[in-house]
Amino acid sequence: MENRELFNIALKTINHKFIEDYGEFGQVACALETESGKIYSGINLDLSCSLGMCAEQATILEMLKSGETKIKKLIAVHEGGIIYPPCGRCREFIYQINKENLNTIILLEGLKEVKLSELLPSTWMEYRKIED
Ligand SMILES: [Zn+2]
Repeated sequence: MENRELFNIALKTINHKFIEDYGEFGQVACALETESGKIYSGINLDLSCSLGMCAEQATILEMLKSGETKIKKLIAVHEGGIIYPPCGRCREFIYQINKENLNTIILLEGLKEVKLSELLPSTWMEYRKIED
């Protein structure tokens, strides 16, 4: 899928709402393409006490329902069309779902393509092996 199309899917998925006075959701959306070409999308959830999850994680959970784990390409977009790189936790999350996801193309500002391995040069799992 073209980068612009994946961006547009994420942008259309944004649906920012507030939960009373203590939370909000949908101000960030993610879209990903799996190795087989399927497209999944999801939104973030921000609650009090640091509860919630990033849009990337919600999208990956949608993908896991199909049994797929290999991500070809991923993008996260904030309302207004600002592209966010995955946070550190999401980088490790994407990697631990399938180690071959170090080759996942992450789309950054300007639809610049980088591999996850460039954003996550040292994985937690590598160091865990050394300690074992
Ligand atoms: Zn994250």
